[in-house]
Amino acid sequence: MHPRNHLYIRLTAIRTALSSVFGSALAIGAAATLAATLAATLAATLAATLAAPLAAQGSLPVNDPGIRRAFDAIQSWNSWILENQVSLCEIPAPPFKEQVRGIEFRKRLIALGYRDTKIDVVGNVIAERAGRGGGPTVMISGHLDTVFPEGTDVSVKKEGERYTGAGIGDDCRGLAVILAVARALNEGRIQTLGTVILVANVGEEGPGNLRGVRELFNNGYKGKIDRYISVDGTGFDVTSRAVGSNRYNVVFTGPGGHSYGAFGRVPSAIHAMGRAIALIDEIVPPPGIKTTYNVGVIKGGTSVNTISPDGSMEVDMRSESVDNLAKIDEMIHDAVARAVSAENARWPNSPAKITVKFDTIGIRPVGRVVQTDATPIIKTALDAALALDIEAKTSASSTDSNLPMSLGIPAMTIDGGGRGGNSHAAGEWYEDGATGYKGPQWALLIVASLAGLAGTTTP
Ligand SMILES: [Zn+2]
Repeated sequence: MHPRNHLYIRLTAIRTALSSVFGSALAIGAAATLAATLAATLAATLAATLAAPLAAQGSLPVNDPGIRRAFDAIQSWNSWILENQVSLCEIPAPPFKEQVRGIEFRKRLIALGYRDTKIDVVGNVIAERAGRGGGPTVMISGHLDTVFPEGTDVSVKKEGERYTGAGIGDDCRGLAVILAVARALNEGRIQTLGTVILVANVGEEGPGNLRGVRELFNNGYKGKIDRYISVDGTGFDVTSRAVGSNRYNVVFTGPGGHSYGAFGRVPSAIHAMGRAIALIDEIVPPPGIKTTYNVGVIKGGTSVNTISPDGSMEVDMRSESVDNLAKIDEMIHDAVARAVSAENARWPNSPAKITVKFDTIGIRPVGRVVQTDATPIIKTALDAALALDIEAKTSASSTDSNLPMSLGIPAMTIDGGGRGGNSHAAGEWYEDGATGYKGPQWALLIVASLAGLAGTTTP
């Protein structure tokens, strides 16, 4: 409904109510008291209605009283959100070592009234907020893990408006938004139809290989989640599509030998790897949807005067297309096989050959359904952004949402608001600016819209 029509109907209803009540009130001689009460009620109603009603978008519950209360609440304790962001960030959470931060996160959810908050077998922190029934179950999560190894200085420094610290945006911002949504749902006394599940998950970053969401979707909550939102990083954009990735550590092994004494009699693992890299570099990716490859890390060798018995390289390939990802994977495997044959053929007198194996570092799946801006869950996020006067764009990336997307579950990753930079690097920073609070408001509005509110929205 357009807000102006909404206001018109409310005023008409108030006028009707006033005339009928005044008629009988005058008859019983309590006009003055009643008139004062009604005048006050009218004023309050008008004030509430006129207090900058948000631009209604589609069926979003932007003017639901609970949502309005929650929005006001979020703005009033914005500094609390920032305090949580900073203090959670100062607890180290390297890949596979998220426990301490997770335990603290659980404590904070319990303090907000989520007394049954649990930690599952892999370390995901989970709080359920029961719905009234009749709506989809919506899960919203931020990730606990960072890319930073143990021993990294995780203290957060504040200079002016800017917070600088490892993980301050990715994803301490997301964690703070989850706490804000948890608190605002309660303070707004918002009754959703579907159950809302608030999560701080492990294993989002590279080495974790999505093990947090894998546990949630393949085990703990298998078949029980209807919509999924990940809050990851800073800004106001939406990751609506999944970039899938295959990552391997390719290990070359050979006999090794003295660089002078064994020369000509043994193949070299490092030389084989060098041939492989050269062949990979010549690959033309399949046409159409963007498809990439990269050899990111190489290791191996014993000494300058040893024909290397070992070499390994970490290879990453990505695409939004299932077919292209499968094709590039095949091309890389083929290049490596040809390189090994060539190296073995180069030294035919060697009694031992170079062998190779692919160890999987991570497989991030591609979405089963290609989501567009018109896909309902994405449209909800974009409409909610419009209602809050936020400019949001959609793009493709590799996030926790890849996993539910690969299962055909509507999912997306949204930014947590504010501004930030240098993520995954030293000097990562965050600035809340004048509109940082809109990040948690946006997340809340999306969650409420997707789960549905009694009498306001049909999820
Ligand atoms: Zn992240």
